[in-house]
Amino acid sequence: MTGFATTQIRAGARPPVPPNPAVVPIYQTAAYEFESWEAARDIFALRRQGNLYSRTGNPTQSVLEQRIAALDGGVAALAVASGQAAVAIALLALAKSGEHIVAARQLYGGTLDLLTDTFADFGIEVTLVDQGDLDAWRRAIRPRTRALFAETIGNPTATVLDVRGVADIAHAAGVPFVVDNTVATPALLRPVEHGADVAVYSATKYLGGHGGSLGGLIVDLGTFDFGAAPGRWPQFTEPYPRVGDVVLWERFGRDGSAFLVYAKTKLAHDLGPALSPFNAHQLLLGIETLDLRIARQTASAEAIARALDEHPAVSRVHHPSVAGSPHAELARRYLPRGASAVFSFDLAAGPEAVPRFVDALEHFTLAANIGDARSLVIHPASTTHSHLRDGDLALAGFSRSTVRLSIGLEDVADLIGDLTRALALVPGRAGPDAPPAAPIPVAVGAATTTEEH
Ligand SMILES: *Cc1c(COP(=O)(O)O)cnc(C)c1O
Repeated sequence: MTGFATTQIRAGARPPVPPNPAVVPIYQTAAYEFESWEAARDIFALRRQGNLYSRTGNPTQSVLEQRIAALDGGVAALAVASGQAAVAIALLALAKSGEHIVAARQLYGGTLDLLTDTFADFGIEVTLVDQGDLDAWRRAIRPRTRALFAETIGNPTATVLDVRGVADIAHAAGVPFVVDNTVATPALLRPVEHGADVAVYSATKYLGGHGGSLGGLIVDLGTFDFGAAPGRWPQFTEPYPRVGDVVLWERFGRDGSAFLVYAKTKLAHDLGPALSPFNAHQLLLGIETLDLRIARQTASAEAIARALDEHPAVSRVHHPSVAGSPHAELARRYLPRGASAVFSFDLAAGPEAVPRFVDALEHFTLAANIGDARSLVIHPASTTHSHLRDGDLALAGFSRSTVRLSIGLEDVADLIGDLTRALALVPGRAGPDAPPAAPIPVAVGAATTTEEH
């Protein structure tokens, strides 16, 4: 007989995990029991594979990692708590204090904050370039550059990256090319087919697809040879004191992803952005319908972009599928299966018309997220990009009149109907065939001068 306290912890045999659940179970545990002293030592020394502690891995997470690696054609993946953590860890594994990164100016706002503010605090220098200007990428590279970074599809304006063009520049300089493939997902674009070396994801968006869980993924595409210039990459090519002075590049190389072994045992371990097993499970279920959702959402987005492009209250649609888009050619080359369900458009009536339009929408949730099953709307200049000045907005390719949409899975006719109804409330382009402009409410204190509510 054991005492009460011992009993409350130890009583009841742990049921063996049944070998045949049809859906990947949630392994909700922080730690794992080692079968012996020797097993514990060998697992810590990376001499034997095994679960150690859920900050660096969990069986549910491991299925998610293998699944995204397979979808992307990579050698291995690492799952972390958010897309933001994935970007940070992927880049910190390549560049440290005193080193340098070249990145696209058209990045997600959170990533720009990370690169230009927090990385500056860390002593990592970042040069931002216009992603479409290949000469600017070339010129920005220095002897201490350790990575090039860009998004395959950028938001809010659905920019399309010349992945191969930038990859070739990175490789000529002997540095890896890391892409954020969040908006495209492997259903639209597989970065490995165009020369990228590492792909990162906010799984919070399309991979999960339900907006219910945060998560981030780093995929090693297994293409970059860190052994070619060992002096540049001491983290992979010199003895690694954390695990018995093994040289990660010799032990794991490209196929065993020395890059992710380092990212996991040092950065995920030290900084601690672990993905919860519950979130890993939700993201796995989401991925099971990825291609169906992406096909529906991109087709709806193209239909909506066309409808907006013809509407007199809209002055410009930022989607590669509309006539005259500067990204049409790159979209044909890189996105034959459809180009982005996230895009934006400009209200002809200018920024004053935005609040009325946005608040009139019924089938679009006003939210900062993208890639959800429900359609979403946001006004970047007053929210996600509110710290940018007019000049920075212009450099980023949009203005205070720009409204961003993330198209969900609803009936496309309902979405177009909703947008058309809300657009009827704002003035259109001036011209003989423009519809009569509805008055815009003029704020007087808390009240407005219009009658309708
Ligand atoms: C949302 C997003 C991120 C950050 O991901 P979180 O999961 O929100 O941390 C990074 N990159 C892109 C392109 C994103 O859309």
